[in-house]
Amino acid sequence: MMHYPVMEHFYTIQGEGVHAGRAAYFVRLAGCDVGCVWCDVKESWPTEGFPTHTATEICDWVYQTPAEIVVITGGEPAMYDCTEIVDALHQKGYKVHVETSAAYPLRGGYDWVCISPKKFKQPVIEEMQRANELKVIVFNDSDFKWAEQWAETCNDTCALLLQSEWEKRDVMMPKMIQFVKDNPRWRICIQTHKIINVP
Ligand code: SF4
Repeated sequence: MMHYPVMEHFYTIQGEGVHAGRAAYFVRLAGCDVGCVWCDVKESWPTEGFPTHTATEICDWVYQTPAEIVVITGGEPAMYDCTEIVDALHQKGYKVHVETSAAYPLRGGYDWVCISPKKFKQPVIEEMQRANELKVIVFNDSDFKWAEQWAETCNDTCALLLQSEWEKRDVMMPKMIQFVKDNPRWRICIQTHKIINVP
């Protein structure tokens, strides 16, 4: 039986991506070795100091709420074989989403896969076909070309999203608007949870 390090867990509103605005239970696993310089959850990088929990315990937390969706995030959840969590949640009828850089092969039968590739430790290329959602963080001008390169590795139905790094949003948003107008397969993703002030 796996014991997963959990940094935090909470029932909230999904702020980002295709499912933005929907209620979701978030489980943030601790541990990440990707090392994004602009990471806004650097406290999730170590695994030490966080309690570990079984899939059954995680399932019990969700069961206390009316949630229908569970988002496994991190940290980097691809560092773990999440099959036990996903299977336990499926048995209770939940849809399980993952937010990952796909720096490691994904283990678990997720219902929705959001891959946000990172330059600091690039995705396992074979995992890109599993993406339902490609979310590229725009930090500087070269990220538009980089985003298009990753889009070529995704399946035809994958939603393509550009999200400004939060501190760069004033500079990058006008460029993102123009890019999406020129390339309408893409859409702009906004971190609405930071606007409506939910975790
Ligand atoms: S992959 Fe995510 S958690 Fe890890 S460093 Fe990058 S932004 Fe932070």
